[in-house]
Amino acid sequence: MLILGGTREARELAHIASGERGFEIVSSLAGRVRAPLLPEGDVRIGGFGGAEGLRAWLAANDVAAMVDATHPFAAAISANAAEAARVSGVPLVHLRRPRWVEQTGDRWTRVPDLPAAAARVAALGERVFLTIGRQGVDAFAGLARQWFLIRAIDPPEGALPERHELLLARGPFALEDEARLLAEHRIDVLVTKDSGGEQTEAKLTAARAAGIPVVVVDRPPLPKDARIVESAAQALDWLRHRRARHG
Ligand code: NAP
Repeated sequence: MLILGGTREARELAHIASGERGFEIVSSLAGRVRAPLLPEGDVRIGGFGGAEGLRAWLAANDVAAMVDATHPFAAAISANAAEAARVSGVPLVHLRRPRWVEQTGDRWTRVPDLPAAAARVAALGERVFLTIGRQGVDAFAGLARQWFLIRAIDPPEGALPERHELLLARGPFALEDEARLLAEHRIDVLVTKDSGGEQTEAKLTAARAAGIPVVVVDRPPLPKDARIVESAAQALDWLRHRRARHG
């Protein structure tokens, strides 16, 4: 079984599946983060070389089933997994935590991508809390009037907005800390990807309490006909069914 990882759910699945008899699990990481949190069991690190490279890896390692448990915004690897599964016949399920849902009191604007988020921010405020991770910060580089608090695990690559402060941190983040951060930096707009999950949800609660508008970047779509589960437990059930069929 191959788990395409890089998320908390992928580590959770590796943990619970490696306790199952009859499973041989390998987790795969892209190798982007400097000090990744490693899942339990065997781990391989680095790209496969596109869909064709992944297909060849599945064949060479006699993979019986594959779980794409990558981040909802890691669109390229999910598309490669779908293509490699289609060509090789290896069954695939995508493990995607549920999206965040707007609640009473929220002031959210949903946008399709990061350039649209940058355009929206320009109209919403001057002190921006940017929590989109390391990738895509360059979409905001042209905003000269705004000041940015940029939070990511590792430093972002590419062009950065001229006026910014970098905050290197890895979640989970507590509500009181998020509220303090918004107040101390006098944030008047928050930008986030719709990553979902509890680890980084507190910023949304803090923004709601403070009446701060939030620009929420929608997830890229999964391939058509994708089979999706929402938790590690559901993915484990699916893997058990695959094992039963595989003999
Ligand atoms: P991406 O754009 O979808 O993938 C770019 C390339 O990186 C892929 O084509 C693949 O290279 C390689 N790759 C990605 N995930 C891989 C994996 N689990 N194992 C082996 N190779 C992988 O991905 P990304 O947005 O750069 O994210 C990279 C990793 O960070 C993902 O595993 C994801 O789960 C994790 N992550 C991403 C985000 C985010 O916001 N995007 C947030 C948290 C964690 P080849 O084509 O050479 O195979």
